Amino acid sequence: MVETNPALTYRYTAVTDVGRRRTVNQDSGYASSRLLVIADGMGGAAAGDLASAEAMQVIQRLDAPLQGDALQALAGAVHRANERIAEVIEDDPSVNGMGTTLTAMLWYGEAFGLAHIGDSRGYRLRDGELTQITTDHTFVQELVDQGQISREQAHHHPHRNLIMRVLVGGDDNEPDLEVIEPRVGDRYMLCSDGLSDMIDDPAISEALGAENIDMAAVELVRRALEGGGSDNVTCVLAEVVPADAPADPNLAGASEAPMLVGAASELAHPPSPDSDVGGAGGAGRRSDDTDEQPPVGDDPNDPDPNYPNSRDPEELRYAPRAPRRFRWLFRLVVAVVILGGLVVAGKFAYDWTQEQYFVSESDGHVAIYRGVQANLPMVELESVYEVTEIELTSLPTFAQNQVRDGIESRDLSDAFSDVQSLRDIAEKCADPKQAAKPGSECQGAS
Ligand code: CA
Repeated sequence: MVETNPALTYRYTAVTDVGRRRTVNQDSGYASSRLLVIADGMGGAAAGDLASAEAMQVIQRLDAPLQGDALQALAGAVHRANERIAEVIEDDPSVNGMGTTLTAMLWYGEAFGLAHIGDSRGYRLRDGELTQITTDHTFVQELVDQGQISREQAHHHPHRNLIMRVLVGGDDNEPDLEVIEPRVGDRYMLCSDGLSDMIDDPAISEALGAENIDMAAVELVRRALEGGGSDNVTCVLAEVVPADAPADPNLAGASEAPMLVGAASELAHPPSPDSDVGGAGGAGRRSDDTDEQPPVGDDPNDPDPNYPNSRDPEELRYAPRAPRRFRWLFRLVVAVVILGGLVVAGKFAYDWTQEQYFVSESDGHVAIYRGVQANLPMVELESVYEVTEIELTSLPTFAQNQVRDGIESRDLSDAFSDVQSLRDIAEKCADPKQAAKPGSECQGAS
């Protein structure tokens, strides 16, 4: 007998790790029998962890019996999450600039509704074949779509982290919406860029195909840490099974309790030494930090990030002492050498800055600057190299913000190619048909 429409369900798990170079986890992940979510917060000083936790708190309310259409419910929830971020910023202007990606899959008994904004990713592994089911709202994805660079080049592009659309509490932060039709055996993964930036597709495919989803999640995070771990790493996994499949009591999601990991769980329940699992309803799980790799400081040569001012005892032991008689002479020589060194080093450093370029704003236009952005008193390290005809307001909101913040270039020709890409976007957005498309990348451009 062939079953034509087998009833389906899925198993789930969620794992996060703060990464090897960060001290704060700005990712939030959620997995339950109805809802899978990833939210990757951004805005360092401006509380990216708060943005992702606030958005998660709002979107989590979808985890209840569904009234009406799944895509409408998702669109409404993303809208409310965005409004919530706007409210938080209004209450505390110091967090202005914070934002979060949001990718959510809502199960409605036979299929998933998918809502997506930002550069977190959704993947499906079906019959050994990996497919990305979301489109990055990034600058490099625009270049890929325009055929200017390949997907592989995008993976290594210096501006691959430039996001064009994300939840920042603005009025144009609309998600992509789609229905995902699952099949038995499908595995789905939602992940932050701290995972997809560190591992290429073949490796994701291999790890996602592990014996079970718990092993897959741990292996994916392990590989991301091994691949650099320079950002927070979070993945939310699901495996579609027949509704009557016996539960596997060894799996993390077997208890049917929702799993909440990362910023949302840490901000909701400040960690205490013995709070590994807790919270009414089981939704208060503490971050599943895998502790796979030791943390490292920003500079791999740092002796010990926990004690930045400590000196290596061996170094002190071998510091030579000047003979007492010539101590004054020794001091004088040291002073002269240091002063001379500073002048030479200063000259080298200045010359170096004048070979750097970046793209920023001048008088409302996109401009190329020579030098580096450094707010040093009395020292001017940047000057306008060329002001372009591209008006800042002709760009989408997020690109405008990125230009205002400055886009670093490898060299002058790189700066020109960034300007050309911005020009292409501005020209595309000048077409009223493009700008009016729902979910268009052109939101905010005029
Ligand atoms: Ca990230």
